[in-house]
Amino acid sequence: MTDRKLGFDTLQVHAGTEPDPTTGARQVPIYQTTSYVFKDAAHAARLFNLEEVGYIYSRLTNPTVMALANRICALEGGAGAVTCSSGHAAQIMALFPLMMPGCNVVASTRLYGGTLTQFSQTFKRFGWSAKFVDFDDFDAVRDAIDDNTRAIFCETIANPGGVISDLDALGAIAKSAGLPLIVDNTTATPYLCNPIKHGATLVVHSTTKYLTGNGTVTGGCVVDSGTFDWATSGKFPSLSEPEPAYHGLDFVDTFGPAAFTFHSIAIGLRDLGMTMNPQAAHYTLMGIETLSLRMQKHVQNAREIASWLEGDDRIEAVTYAGLPSSPYYDLQTRICPRGAGALFTVALKGGYQACVDTVAKLELFSHVANLGDTRSLVIHPASTTHSQLTEAELIKAGAGPNVLRLSIGIEDANDLIADLDAALS
Ligand SMILES: *Cc1c(COP(=O)(O)O)cnc(C)c1O
Repeated sequence: MTDRKLGFDTLQVHAGTEPDPTTGARQVPIYQTTSYVFKDAAHAARLFNLEEVGYIYSRLTNPTVMALANRICALEGGAGAVTCSSGHAAQIMALFPLMMPGCNVVASTRLYGGTLTQFSQTFKRFGWSAKFVDFDDFDAVRDAIDDNTRAIFCETIANPGGVISDLDALGAIAKSAGLPLIVDNTTATPYLCNPIKHGATLVVHSTTKYLTGNGTVTGGCVVDSGTFDWATSGKFPSLSEPEPAYHGLDFVDTFGPAAFTFHSIAIGLRDLGMTMNPQAAHYTLMGIETLSLRMQKHVQNAREIASWLEGDDRIEAVTYAGLPSSPYYDLQTRICPRGAGALFTVALKGGYQACVDTVAKLELFSHVANLGDTRSLVIHPASTTHSQLTEAELIKAGAGPNVLRLSIGIEDANDLIADLDAALS
């Protein structure tokens, strides 16, 4: 292909794939195999010692899965990417090479509910911890960093409350502290934002959502910018010191900007086994081909519906960063200039009960614990995704008792407004 820098719409269809070298198949085949025949004993030995890159066993790599990793990597402008079985797996895979018992992550208070639980509860079992702070308060972020901090973690468009993270400012804080900024870009997608351009070191995705887009399979991805210096500070020995399981190989010395990605495959997937399967990669590859078209429609619908809700007298507040009334509106034009996504919350004057009643009456909106589907979805976080949190934490997370979360799909906006109007009555 030419050396011209290809546009997003071209990359989402072509990146990471070429006609199948064996059969000429134009679409990426689903390589439904667990293992790959070695050419000879020497070939096998080279593969096992990471002296040659190739396929050994599908817990590590698989051609269909690699095609997806390479495509997401191209869309995010990264140096390497690894896919895994879910978005939550991606978060563990992103942190695993960086953390040791006693280490912490400085994380935003405004995160996906499941992420708050993973960070605050399950991390403890690894001896890790998370320090949650308000990421609009840059001094608080700086103050939370200590000698045992190994990463700073936030979401581009924070789920669920229509909050935009100032990635440029957070990237600068991370840089001056010598720490990687990890950004969960699930709700923005690479079409609306490329966190690496704003200073992110690693980008994580739940491909379960918009990237697949059709609500069929779970998956995750970690994209590495390839620009972080893992060696100088001595804080990341897994990447910068000899690895006993590979004859003392040093990932940074051996693989340079691909060190993180090689480590994630050769150690992370090998030993944690949170691997994406080729069927899932196939569904996600199908979805990604139309990502930009879907995101344009998601954003257009979300703008229309959020404006309508904001003008309705049954509504207390709408937290969509794409509304000029949002405190995050200006930030959105810098961080996500193509739009503020399609996920926002709406607070009902009628309180908790009005939320429960509205969810029950909606017909086009499905009541599910998912987001980023072509279908419009609704959930009441306080009684579901965020029910593990205390009332104070709920409010901090933007998910108070009278709050509904809407994930606007790509149906006709007029039909969605009619459905909401009827259900709110
Ligand atoms: C869904 C989601 C996750 C978790 O992803 P799974 O694929 O469900 O494991 C993490 N972060 C965000 C922002 C999400 O929406």
